[in-house]
Amino acid sequence: MPAPYRSLTIAAFAAEVANFAWTRRVWRVDMHHTWVPAHADYAGLASIEGMATYHVRDRGFDDIAQHVSIAPDGAIWTGRDWNKDPASVGYRMNRGVFMFEAIGNFDIGFDRLAGAQRDSVCAVIDIVQRRFRLPVQALLFHREVPQTEKTCPGTSVDKDDILRRVTARRRAADPA
Ligand SMILES: [Zn+2]
Repeated sequence: MPAPYRSLTIAAFAAEVANFAWTRRVWRVDMHHTWVPAHADYAGLASIEGMATYHVRDRGFDDIAQHVSIAPDGAIWTGRDWNKDPASVGYRMNRGVFMFEAIGNFDIGFDRLAGAQRDSVCAVIDIVQRRFRLPVQALLFHREVPQTEKTCPGTSVDKDDILRRVTARRRAADPA
């Protein structure tokens, strides 16, 4: 949601997703890392505002690219209006997408996606997918797009591991 950007816990994010006046249907969740800022650069709200300024002033987007940004401490920062398509992978594939960026550089040898940040990543994927009755497979890593040479969301992030964790979270919340 547009500025001022706010920091949410997982529970607060779940409540906002449940109560938000959605006017579009979401079909897919896209995952990116920021690369910059990396973990060591993270400075709370100033980092979110810095990305927003860069996206609007230098990239020409109409708002910050992502719907939420997930901080190293697990904070879930609001971003672009959730009813607007994000500036995600491009190539006319942004329609109907909920997009988040994990703050950090997760290429091997740099930051690690773990702990509270990974928990929030899996929670955001699960909560948005469940709101729209999507399977866990409705998740795209930026690097899966054939047109890109990016490693995003980072070579140390294993998609199968994320899918397993999201599946485990869903089973725990929704025992069959
Ligand atoms: Zn990306």
